[in-house]
Amino acid sequence: MNQNQKFIIGVDIGGTWIRVAICTQELYEENIKTKVVNTPKEHKFSISNSVVTMISELLSENNLNKDQILGIGLACAGPLDMVTGEVFNNANLGFREIPIKQPIQEKFPDIPIYLINDCNAAVLGVHYFEASEDEKENLVYITVSTGIGGGAIVNGHLLIGKDGNAAEVGHGLVEPRSNLQCNCGAYGCWEVYSSGTGVMRRTLEAINEGNLNADILMKLVENDTSKITAKEVFQAAREGDELSEKIVDQFIFYMKVGIGLVNNFYDCTAVYFGGAMMKDKAQILPPIIEQFEKNPIIFTVNHPPKLKATIYREDIGLRGALALIKYKTENSPILDML
Ligand SMILES: [Zn+2]
Repeated sequence: MNQNQKFIIGVDIGGTWIRVAICTQELYEENIKTKVVNTPKEHKFSISNSVVTMISELLSENNLNKDQILGIGLACAGPLDMVTGEVFNNANLGFREIPIKQPIQEKFPDIPIYLINDCNAAVLGVHYFEASEDEKENLVYITVSTGIGGGAIVNGHLLIGKDGNAAEVGHGLVEPRSNLQCNCGAYGCWEVYSSGTGVMRRTLEAINEGNLNADILMKLVENDTSKITAKEVFQAAREGDELSEKIVDQFIFYMKVGIGLVNNFYDCTAVYFGGAMMKDKAQILPPIIEQFEKNPIIFTVNHPPKLKATIYREDIGLRGALALIKYKTENSPILDML
């Protein structure tokens, strides 16, 4: 490997997986090398230790020196404080508060490290690798997974916020009189209705109420309700299960409400979706696209955006972490607020 060649490192820290990638600074797709491990949760430094180990392994496997690294982009599930480099109020990483940036910086003191919210990273990934020219100026990314999160580029600038958590769209209120409590503590968040866990919870409640036929779903899970996840509910809905169809219809309705709010706030040209729920995008996106093409006014006052699923699926946050450093080294105006 050429000793003068420079490289970029990207890291994506989520509730289930930690992904690390290294790539030449030109960021050609064919040069991206990755590693993935399960997110360790033994103590507050498990995650940072694991990231340091994975980076060190990638460096030695590729015969690289630390001084060939232009920067490390850290994308992490939030909320997070970009100034202190810590996660706070987190529901999925094992602890509410976790130091992320500092312990990694101590091991790589001469390499610039930038920490951002994973969905803010993902929208950078869409911007660099995927969005068409006309979509780049006003672009939103939304993950629909265990929870719902977002990242927004408005007039060519990534929105950051005071701590780094602009565009926490999943906690937008979609049902003011809801008795369903979100992980965040509030009631009626979008995430309660249109996330994977939300679909599972609402299905179990509907089964308990007993008003709708769920024979197809129950057969699918061999009468064991503990086996029900969003995946089974969507499959049962495809096969005509009455209860599952109702839950999927509600999921789609609240997706429209949430997307409408997002478009009212950011006036975006395109919204890209990622996250585990997009495995069923063939069921989810067409009715939403039809709504916003034919009759958007019920949900949004602004001109409706194009709606798409990211082709990079679970790698979009990691690609965004790489793009973050690429844009930093170029002094791109997209990061003016960072
Ligand atoms: Zn919430």
